[in-house]
Amino acid sequence: MPYRIFNFNPGPATLPLEVLEEAREEMLNYRNTGLSIMEMSHRSPEFEEIIDSAQSLFLELAELSTAYQVLFLQGGASLQFSMIPFNFLTSDTTADYIITGSFAKKAMQEAAKIGNTNVAASNDVTNYTTIPRPEDITLSPNSAYLHFTTNNTIYGTQWNYVPDSGTVPLIADMSSDILSRKIEMHRFALVYAGAQKNLGPAGVTAVIIHKSLLEKASASLPAMLSYKTHAENGSLFNTPPCFPIYIVKLVLEWIKKKGGLSAIQETNEQKADLLYQAIDNSGGYYIGHAAKEDRSIMNVTFRLPEEGLEKTFLEEAAAEGLKGLKGHRSVGGIRASIYNAMPYEGCEALAQFMKEFPKKH
Ligand SMILES: *Cc1c(COP(=O)(O)O)cnc(C)c1O
Repeated sequence: MPYRIFNFNPGPATLPLEVLEEAREEMLNYRNTGLSIMEMSHRSPEFEEIIDSAQSLFLELAELSTAYQVLFLQGGASLQFSMIPFNFLTSDTTADYIITGSFAKKAMQEAAKIGNTNVAASNDVTNYTTIPRPEDITLSPNSAYLHFTTNNTIYGTQWNYVPDSGTVPLIADMSSDILSRKIEMHRFALVYAGAQKNLGPAGVTAVIIHKSLLEKASASLPAMLSYKTHAENGSLFNTPPCFPIYIVKLVLEWIKKKGGLSAIQETNEQKADLLYQAIDNSGGYYIGHAAKEDRSIMNVTFRLPEEGLEKTFLEEAAAEGLKGLKGHRSVGGIRASIYNAMPYEGCEALAQFMKEFPKKH
């Protein structure tokens, strides 16, 4: 067994050990081709098979029909912040954004450079400890789309329902919780996620788009910014990030082997429960950032009684192989990112550490 820490980094994040081992097996000689995926043409039958099965596995796991197309793009989730308004925000419409944290705000800032935007709801007054209730959300009369962030990676809050946008296309940044739980995916017109949290390595971004939205996309954009270009060419308009796409395919197979999204969700809830119990049973020693009903099962954020203790916490945790726990600089404190690939044992070890720490400090 190789030495592996429990890696709580927010992204790039831990990957399933089985996936890394499989990639190692196939690294030098992929299925008797005598070369690695990294050296292979993206137009080869071997790579076409990889990208095709990644796309169909994704639809299968998300329980989506072929009315949706899966794209594998570059530029991270951050490029999607621009591509969405470029493609769908016209001069006579307004783009609605729900602001539940830093990434939601960044997404809206990019759209504001391209057209009209509106804050449909915001949780800034609670310092992003909460998620809006349905009655807090107000759409523009001529809305191009409603954009929101299903899981707030930095603050550790997560939506536990899908907002109702009526006939307005619903768009979600799912970078930090894609395929981590059962969610009504068919209610979305477009979903995107940088792979480096729940899907694979950095360098590829998954975009799932309904064909009816695709038809509405602008036809006058530079090729690389146009969803139509990538959709018409099956994500092979230019050289795609072949190796990251290959790892995404292995991760999707791993999710399927684990029993699909219901099984993954159950484990994720149990993992999060261990850490939230450690917070709630600490007699006020640990202070969770998120309001209880809006807690994320992906990013668990909390503080200690003093900042100095947080430094000690991080040092002592690292010495026990529990690493990557430092909170985002804008929130401070501790953040445990426990995406799909974080084993249950990692959360057990951290919960145990959290129980012991106050006794010493
Ligand atoms: C990490 C993250 C991003 C940024 O992703 P990049 O791929 O680095 O551009 C955007 N949105 C959310 C919710 C994230 O967690």
